[in-house]
Amino acid sequence: MILKTNILTPISPDKYKYIPHAFITIENTKIQSISSSGNNKNFLDFSNCVCVPGFIDTHVHLSQFHARGKHSSNLLDWLNKIIFEEEYRSKDFKYAYQLTKNFFLESIKAGTTTSVIYTAPYKHACEIAFKEAKNSGVRAIIGNTLMDTNSPDYLQEDTEKSINESIELFEKWNKSTDLLEYVFSPRFAPVCSSKLMRTIGAYAKKNNAYIQTHLSENIDEKKWVSSLFPAFKNYTEVYEKHNLLGPKTLLGHAIHINEKEIEIIKRTKSKIIHCPDSNFFLKSGIFPWEDIKRSGIDFALASDVGAGTSLSMLNVMKMCNYRQDNYVISPEEALYYATLGGAKVLGKEDIIGSIEIGKDADLTFIEIDNPREKSGTEILSTLLYIGNELKVKSTFVAGKIVY
Ligand SMILES: [Zn+2]
Repeated sequence: MILKTNILTPISPDKYKYIPHAFITIENTKIQSISSSGNNKNFLDFSNCVCVPGFIDTHVHLSQFHARGKHSSNLLDWLNKIIFEEEYRSKDFKYAYQLTKNFFLESIKAGTTTSVIYTAPYKHACEIAFKEAKNSGVRAIIGNTLMDTNSPDYLQEDTEKSINESIELFEKWNKSTDLLEYVFSPRFAPVCSSKLMRTIGAYAKKNNAYIQTHLSENIDEKKWVSSLFPAFKNYTEVYEKHNLLGPKTLLGHAIHINEKEIEIIKRTKSKIIHCPDSNFFLKSGIFPWEDIKRSGIDFALASDVGAGTSLSMLNVMKMCNYRQDNYVISPEEALYYATLGGAKVLGKEDIIGSIEIGKDADLTFIEIDNPREKSGTEILSTLLYIGNELKVKSTFVAGKIVY
């Protein structure tokens, strides 16, 4: 398959490449060549689009997709009054199925090709998510949310049962196709017992599996963790001592962390996921972008829907710029952390995240007025600030058109 388009791809947080009038040849799943001239007349014409790497959303709650935009004053209030009841609705198979269908359709419409997903804490909801991810052709890392203490009765799981179900889901779905993987997903320390966290941590490590959880999103949450785990010096240490940190661990938020916690995250090579739209919505605080960047910890952007209001990573890029009061995030930096930076936190930077020969063809085509008459810088700026007005024309995952 040959595509005619204009390529905009990140190289590093402050470098990008713009190739107008380009022809991309796709062979099976991969980009076979990129050239400035095409002899063949049989090409798909995306001349009126800019082609960027498929967006990578490294933290999103499928189970909360229908609960977006429901006002609350803070994280814990929002979880208790809105989110837990919404997740309970996925106990119903039909509801879980419709929700999942809606989620994947909107996600690929927004140009997202890879998602790292929390489902509702029901095994069947996670199964449905895997089946629908497979049907829709997206790349997804999916996990059943775990919570076995301090939770409402209708969501709280039995410790043994939830551990066993997660392992069953992992064995069935992890690497069941080239595009699907499992992520062990203890929701966050306050709702997980020590036994649950330790067992999951040990199993995930032994099997080289992903782990995702939330860390220090909100001040009250942080105080709650201190009261529940008085023996530990800080929130990050709770996860470290429960064997949950490592190169395949994705820590959502990490807003209210100190130097010692940054040191633990860096030493364990854990990753941080920044969700700026969600941080605005729940007034959680300002992500310490400069400190984290300076520390050398790998981090990336994510929507965190349902506290995030949109699945669009273009929206997330804008929010990460807006969320910083003093540090200026450039358009190329925002694009990097929504694509190649996301691939890097997943250890997939050799496969996805940028448009290069030999990588999988995960591509997003966004309609732009006269892209050939514009510079890469102008287009990047348009994507960042008025991305919400642009239309995603088509989305490809591993060489296949999924939208
Ligand atoms: Zn979250």
